[in-house]
Amino acid sequence: MVLTPLAQQILLMVGETVFVGVLLVLSFRLRRIFGAPLLYIVFGVIFQYANLLAGTMYVQLSSWLVVSPGSVVLFPAILFLVLFVYLSDDAVEARKLIYGVAIANVIFVPLGLLVALQLQSPLAINPYHLSPDIFGVQPRIVISSAVVLFIDTLLVCLLYEWISRYTRSIFLRVFLSLLATLYFDSVAFSTLAFAGSPFYRDIMLSQLAGKTVAALLYSAILTIYLRHFNVTESVVVGEGRELGAMFRVLTYRQRYEELQKIVVRDPLTNVYNRGFFDEAIEKYVALAHRSGRPMCMMMLDIDAFKSVNDTYGHAEGDKVLQLIAASLVNAVRSSDYVCRYGGEEFAILLPGTELEQANVLAERIVADIPRALSTGWAGAGVRTVTVTIGVAEYPREATSSSDLLSVADRRLYAGKNAGRARVVAAG
Ligand code: GH3
Ligand code: MG
Ligand code: MG
Repeated sequence: MVLTPLAQQILLMVGETVFVGVLLVLSFRLRRIFGAPLLYIVFGVIFQYANLLAGTMYVQLSSWLVVSPGSVVLFPAILFLVLFVYLSDDAVEARKLIYGVAIANVIFVPLGLLVALQLQSPLAINPYHLSPDIFGVQPRIVISSAVVLFIDTLLVCLLYEWISRYTRSIFLRVFLSLLATLYFDSVAFSTLAFAGSPFYRDIMLSQLAGKTVAALLYSAILTIYLRHFNVTESVVVGEGRELGAMFRVLTYRQRYEELQKIVVRDPLTNVYNRGFFDEAIEKYVALAHRSGRPMCMMMLDIDAFKSVNDTYGHAEGDKVLQLIAASLVNAVRSSDYVCRYGGEEFAILLPGTELEQANVLAERIVADIPRALSTGWAGAGVRTVTVTIGVAEYPREATSSSDLLSVADRRLYAGKNAGRARVVAAG
């Protein structure tokens, strides 16, 4: 089968879009193995190609439709990644990327001018006859695109938040925020860079058409990823305000991370502490809100623990706390967080989990605790230790993190009043 040049061009650009989208998602995913540099180097390559091609190569698809793979395929990938990082990590990571993009754009100008100067020297050997114009980009275009891009990257996240209030469909949220930002970009950029040019109208219409297709494809890729892979795994808790510390010398960063580990743990049980919990529940509720995936929390209280202390002493009571904490960590998934909420109360965060699954897990915990406590402390074999758990789901049953906490808490006390050693996950 022989393709017409037009069909070939369309296929090539669709292929490039899918390739770039999947490449970014894969690099994001492989961060856990290769670290963040992989993603950002891949991104840098795409960013560079977007800039280079947008100014040098166009394809004529019809009498008015002239598109550059740089601006319709690669440029939207920049916004795609910003939104992707915003959705999967958090605003702090997305902000770093936004600053990175802005600074890279600024670096582009002096670097290009220097190379253009070199290329014009009588000593330059230029076998491919590259024009210095490729590098010595017009200041008006560069400045326009840098300013507009900075606004774009902020806009895409803000629009996502705003659109999320009106629809729960991930695809629509991503598509509409990408599309609106790309439209804004096309109009703003074309106007700043090409107003007055005889091609102004065609340039703008072409951009709108090409970017609509790109927004569709990128949104589809992002939606497929978010639906079929765990989006919650990479949320970083306990950073944020201390961000400045992370930019210092590497050894500091390492120490900082070690300290971070100590700071978020409870010394007696080694599960996460209350400080961690308070931040994590905020972050995961916000993530559930953005991603449209539910999350659950459990509030667990040891039954008649005061009498364990009174009978066996506080040291044995401490052992019970440690055994229960270990058994909880054992019971949950690696993406869940077991936290010591207070004296003999544990709060468990279950990102991406529905109430039904959380209920099954809670029932299993209630059934397993007496067995886990049947050895390893003074009362083992004599005294049966039980726990009571309240379970609640966001967003189905709560409108905020504090609401989620109070629903789980209320259920815990309902379980206590109903006779202890049970799970309450409704009513
Ligand atoms: P309920 O079934 O209603 O939960 O009864 P309870 O006895 O467990 O509840 P209460 O709140 O009266 O008792 C909690 C006890 O937990 C009191 C406190 O001394 C003990 N406790 C809190 N923190 C620690 C700790 O770190 N170590 C030890 N050994 N005991 C602790
Ligand atoms: Mg208690
Ligand atoms: Mg208790």
